[in-house]
Amino acid sequence: MKTCSLRQIGLLALGLVVTGTFAHGGEMLKALLVDGQNNHNWQATSPIIKKSLEMTDRFQVEVATAKDASQFHPDFKQYDVVVSNYNGDLWPKSTRTAFKEYIENGGGLVVIHAADNSFSDWPEYNRMIGLGGWGGRDEEHGPYVYYQNGKLVRDFSKGRGGTHGAQWAYPVKVRLPNHPIVKGLPRVWRHAEDELYARLRGPAKQMAVLATAPSKKTGRAEPMLLTIGYGNGRCFHTAMGHDTRSLSGVGFQVTLQRGTEWAATGNVSLTDVPESFPSKEEVSRRDVLKAADQ
Ligand code: ZN
Repeated sequence: MKTCSLRQIGLLALGLVVTGTFAHGGEMLKALLVDGQNNHNWQATSPIIKKSLEMTDRFQVEVATAKDASQFHPDFKQYDVVVSNYNGDLWPKSTRTAFKEYIENGGGLVVIHAADNSFSDWPEYNRMIGLGGWGGRDEEHGPYVYYQNGKLVRDFSKGRGGTHGAQWAYPVKVRLPNHPIVKGLPRVWRHAEDELYARLRGPAKQMAVLATAPSKKTGRAEPMLLTIGYGNGRCFHTAMGHDTRSLSGVGFQVTLQRGTEWAATGNVSLTDVPESFPSKEEVSRRDVLKAADQ
């Protein structure tokens, strides 16, 4: 093997810096998208999630497909953020321990839709995601959390966690307009057709409800976008994202991009709001996989 001169090493380092630089001055963030098991069509949704992130030129996304959870041993520390599109078998104990330490030490987690159904018996995961549904979740897991009469309610009444009705294009209402993930977005915007998760419940500690949507099933404004603190780490949780149609919503995509950057860094530099961002009344869809060919 040829040895490199100092000058060559310098040029190589410069090249790495240039190729690793994000157009707005920040570094490229490394994301690990986890899929491989889900009661949803992860094979169809993961490419949209990946492209939605990569189209910002802010993220480099690797996919870990955990079809056999017992063989799932990623090196989380290599990534700025872990994005979960996974709802399946419990990871091995060593992987769970590594993941907990990764988040505690400042790692980022993004939870999409049914990923909040996962791991109901893993207390640390429930802490990280704030709220979850199904999987036997009940009052033992924590309160229901929702807005009612303009106030955030923590409801400790008994009952199962997790329900939804038929899909519809529902309005998403921003509750914390100064949070960087939703700053500058319309106060109410129309999501593409999706399930509206309701009656989620969990520890709800160090949790902020950024946006809600009105459930026809519960009559409450249910949390759609959440942030949760866990040690030095951060979780962004979007309850939206059932299928490819849901993921085509520009509001979903923009909040996913910003939320993932926030989970990775604690800040949001992706502040531009696309002209195609939905209004209160009008759904706006974008096929990011097609757009990539243009
Ligand atoms: Zn769903």
